[in-house]
Amino acid sequence: MRITCPICGERDRREFTYRGAALGAPALEAGIEAWHAQVHLRLNPAGSLAELWHHEMGCGAWVQVTRNTATHEMLGSVLAEDADLAMPAPETEVEP
Ligand SMILES: [Zn+2]
Repeated sequence: MRITCPICGERDRREFTYRGAALGAPALEAGIEAWHAQVHLRLNPAGSLAELWHHEMGCGAWVQVTRNTATHEMLGSVLAEDADLAMPAPETEVEP
């Protein structure tokens, strides 16, 4: 799998460390239910998903990658600091 770092260009996936789905966080004053959902109730969509990757063996950038989790197709990447951390709705569903 190849990942495009906005700074370095296309690189091997092994240069990156996966850091999970790129999710926005509830407000600090949000109730325990909102934080429970954030920490424990994760979606695992088959289809388009925004993920955080750390270019640990490269420039050190945090990259938000949009990837199809069913096909591993890379749909885009931006520096995490420039990204909207809202998780997009899955676009593709795969039958089990
Ligand atoms: Zn990089």
